[in-house]
Amino acid sequence: MYAVVSRAVLALIAIASTPVAYVLLFVSIERTWLRADHEALWVTSILTGLVLIVAWILVWRQHVIGTGDRVRMTAAAVIWSSVPAFLIGAWVESLSGWSRGGGPVFGGAVWALCWLASTALIWRERPGERSDSIAPDIRCTACGYSMNGLREARCPECGRQSTLDELLTAAWQRRGGVLADNHEARANRVTTAAASRPLEASRA
Ligand SMILES: [Zn+2]
Repeated sequence: MYAVVSRAVLALIAIASTPVAYVLLFVSIERTWLRADHEALWVTSILTGLVLIVAWILVWRQHVIGTGDRVRMTAAAVIWSSVPAFLIGAWVESLSGWSRGGGPVFGGAVWALCWLASTALIWRERPGERSDSIAPDIRCTACGYSMNGLREARCPECGRQSTLDELLTAAWQRRGGVLADNHEARANRVTTAAASRPLEASRA
């Protein structure tokens, strides 16, 4: 199974588990804390929303390039999704013939749909974003001069002649911590670490 397929299955499970979590939370809250169904349903909707937020972030965090903007917009989406949720919840409650419990249940569902849709848009990669984030910063291994864009592996500053694998290994070692949430980078780091181990052993 491809990693992305496995991730999609986990995402479906996270969504499908939400109604199950909703019922379990409602029964626990209604039995132990809030006897009034209407209040218990609103509290259950909010708590289930929090559970969905945590599950959704756990499923996708390794596949999203985390930037400050994305984190802030994801948090803001929690708030702006609440606006249609409360409006539609209040409208459903006002309908004659509907139980008042329809408000928090429908409102919660609307919130979940708005927030999930928002994350799909906010977390989407911009063109070139991933290649930018994994492109190594090539520098001379002797003097640190930036060698990006050069057509040869000879440093114009100090004259050091390197091999391509020396330059790439050094670049990836420098970038080691930056791409901690990126699968490709992790794979590269493992390869780099494995490649440099015999070197360290022979030096020792
Ligand atoms: Zn140099």
